[in-house]
Amino acid sequence: MDCCGHEGIGGGDAKFDVKKVGDGVWVAVAAPAYKVNCNTAIIESDDGVMVVDTHSKPSAARVIVEQLRGLTTRPVRYVVNTHFHWDHWHGNEVYPAAYPNAEIVTNQITREAMVKKGLKRIQDHVRTVPAEIAKLRAEAAAAPSSSSQREKLQSDLRLAEAYLAEVKALKPALPTIAFEQTMKLYRRDREIHLLHLGRAHTEGDVFVYLPKEKVVITGDAVIGWTPYMGDGYPEDWTGTLDRLAQLDFTHIIMGHGDVVGRDWLTTFRAYVDDMVAAVRKEVATGAALDEVKQRVTAALAPTYEKPFSAYGEYRPWRTGLAGNVERTFAMVS
Ligand SMILES: [Zn+2]
Repeated sequence: MDCCGHEGIGGGDAKFDVKKVGDGVWVAVAAPAYKVNCNTAIIESDDGVMVVDTHSKPSAARVIVEQLRGLTTRPVRYVVNTHFHWDHWHGNEVYPAAYPNAEIVTNQITREAMVKKGLKRIQDHVRTVPAEIAKLRAEAAAAPSSSSQREKLQSDLRLAEAYLAEVKALKPALPTIAFEQTMKLYRRDREIHLLHLGRAHTEGDVFVYLPKEKVVITGDAVIGWTPYMGDGYPEDWTGTLDRLAQLDFTHIIMGHGDVVGRDWLTTFRAYVDDMVAAVRKEVATGAALDEVKQRVTAALAPTYEKPFSAYGEYRPWRTGLAGNVERTFAMVS
């Protein structure tokens, strides 16, 4: 196997586009990948750097460490995890290894979710990815030779194999600091607020807010495509986003997708609200899940299919919506 052909900066296959959001504030926007990576927000203060979220694997976090060297000479002091999902914290171990004084911070609920669910899911990945690899290998072998389809499958296969090797060797680094509702850092040049505003994408979503710079970092409570609700609370989500909307900000760094303004929060909130209302309405008629999926899709498509298809091929709206309906159906039935 070509060991290095797919490797980028820092020895990992993950790719990021680093953009300045404000003075000393950047976002590393993750490129689409076979195993999804989250964005990382980078905040520089007088005493060091805070990074928010660490991707699906250590090699992806190492790409960020490499890029940080081009942005600042200051060390990373804080690593924040916005929630317990694998693609936001599997790279944690890289930071204390690279920066001995780095603390990993989240709230108590998310730390508990990492201990109770996150650690087990790492073992689930170790168990299930080999079957994924076997399937990709069989599909690649069956695809017409030298077709773009085969190339794509072979590339996914290499990425899946590389991911399996990393997840097997993972040394999960749990948060070293956990807060309850709010934690505020007052630096000479900057205030950073870590907030829990209620349940949304998970039970413990953390928002990072920079009041002076008017920037908020949302994790997956707001993303650029259809939200994942498998561990979410669709009925609580809009209330949490309403509390978020009360903060004064102009830029939103999301868990996935490019930086957006407040307009996207309005659209995203309306989608969640309308989806939940539509599912409730159909459930009240006694409709079965498949019927509910069909009717809710038909009802929402005219308004939401286009705005939620900016990353359409990577994360198709209809697939995402079907999952959202399923979760909501289970919660309201
Ligand atoms: Zn997530």
